[in-house]
Amino acid sequence: MSFTLAIVGRPNVGKSTLFNRLVGKRLALVDDQPGVTRDLREGEAKLGDLRFTVIDTAGLEEATDDSLQGRMRRLTERAVEMADVCLFMIDARTGVLPADEVFADILRKKNAHVLLAANKGEGRAADAGVIEAYALGLGEPLRISAEHGEGMGDLLAALMPIA
Ligand code: GDP
Ligand code: MG
Repeated sequence: MSFTLAIVGRPNVGKSTLFNRLVGKRLALVDDQPGVTRDLREGEAKLGDLRFTVIDTAGLEEATDDSLQGRMRRLTERAVEMADVCLFMIDARTGVLPADEVFADILRKKNAHVLLAANKGEGRAADAGVIEAYALGLGEPLRISAEHGEGMGDLLAALMPIA
């Protein structure tokens, strides 16, 4: 049986970079609900021997300041509802920001099955941010680098029990 993974988190943490790494060119389509189509990308992911559906929450980056909060909440809730498991991503180089806490709260309220990823984890500059990630109370962070492909074995191991 296959499963659906939603990659969620504030803009610029590296969600789309991971999505692209997992999906390559096997980009499928999306959702036919107006307004959601351009904001949720869906693809067929390949990681080791695992095949699964992955959803990227995009489109937040273009939002104006006053609508950002509402849009991110709506999109994230929609993605969580579509997914069996969420990969909640933070940027280990910036550490945990207030916006990350907003997402953590959404996931807790939705009672989502969450895996926590501390991205941009390559190099020492990420050490402090990885430690901070523990304080979110969402379990042990997976230290990954979507850009450099580090930590993909750990991600695979974390997803294995779900498949
Ligand atoms: P999104 O807004 O969450 O989808 O983030 P993007 O995937 O667009 O990435 C935002 C920025 O972070 C881009 O400049 C990426 O190249 C960069 N980035 C993504 N993953 C990594 C990583 O593992 N390490 C570093 N150093 N930069 C990364
Ligand atoms: Mg993106």
